[in-house]
Amino acid sequence: AKDEGRYNYQFYTKDMTDLAYKRLTLENNLRSAIRDGEFKLYYQAQTDMRSNELVGVECLIRWHKEHEGIIPPDVFIGLAEETGLIVQIDRWVLQEALSQYQQWMKEGLKIGVISVNLSAVQLTQRDFIEFVEKAIKRYDIAPENLMFEVTETAIMRSPEQALDILNKLKELKFGLALDDFGTGLSSLSYLKKLPVDKIKIDRAFIKDIPEDKEDMNLTKTIIAMARNLNLDIIAEGVETQEQIEFLTNNGCYEAQGYYYHKPSSAKDMHPMLLEKSTD
Ligand code: C2E
Ligand code: CA
Ligand code: CA
Ligand code: CA
Repeated sequence: AKDEGRYNYQFYTKDMTDLAYKRLTLENNLRSAIRDGEFKLYYQAQTDMRSNELVGVECLIRWHKEHEGIIPPDVFIGLAEETGLIVQIDRWVLQEALSQYQQWMKEGLKIGVISVNLSAVQLTQRDFIEFVEKAIKRYDIAPENLMFEVTETAIMRSPEQALDILNKLKELKFGLALDDFGTGLSSLSYLKKLPVDKIKIDRAFIKDIPEDKEDMNLTKTIIAMARNLNLDIIAEGVETQEQIEFLTNNGCYEAQGYYYHKPSSAKDMHPMLLEKSTD
């Protein structure tokens, strides 16, 4: 038994070393990705399910890594947060998003509101507000046209600092959406205290509609609650006509999902934007 224990221990440390090595490699690669401009923004349409009109776009980062193709954010955002590299990455995202938005405006395209994701780390950066204000001036964007998406989990990491920043953003008339709603732990009374305009129902609740009755009941409850609090609502991950029917029948009218549009580069979605802007 003793030998076995030692064997397991060695096995365990080898795995740990591999893991540490992988992380270190990823961290170094992330640094060079920032330096060499390997990030790209994709955009996903947010649609009014009744009129099929475009109401906004969410910016989603992609890493175009040499010889490896496109790496999705789930693979690197976590580590970027742990190492603090997310601050630089998300600043790049904001600049890029606003620059693209300005470009669309110049072309006379109506995009609605542009949304970017905010990480937990960003919610503790004292100079974040200043950075945002400078950026919107630079690209000549009204704060009402920019929305920040933040998760409850991110807020709970350091609630006081986060609330401070969110309240300031609200005062300055930026939009605030609570992302991945329903997956966190917050109570109704807490939601009332958050200065958010909108909640995004997480895809987890949507994906098994209409098979999962429990998810359907939860979704109904979330919609009713949001409406009671006078919050806007959007459903994530809408993929089917049945889901659209269920949501609109229950008072949720905005959707973001593959049914309408898969995230794509500005170039690839240009024809769609042209079409949506002229009607
Ligand atoms: P999120 O903010 O919840 O973004 C929505 C994710 O759901 C996106 O994945 C999107 O591609 C995916 N999605 C949208 N519609 C559908 C659908 O109908 N079906 C399915 N199966 N998936 C759908 P993505 O782009 O891989 O992003 C994953 C997460 O990475 C995001 O989740 C967000 O938390 C984070 N992220 C993405 N870009 C950024 C960024 O610029 N900064 C930060 N801090 N986080 C980001
Ligand atoms: Ca989001
Ligand atoms: Ca989300
Ligand atoms: Ca999500």
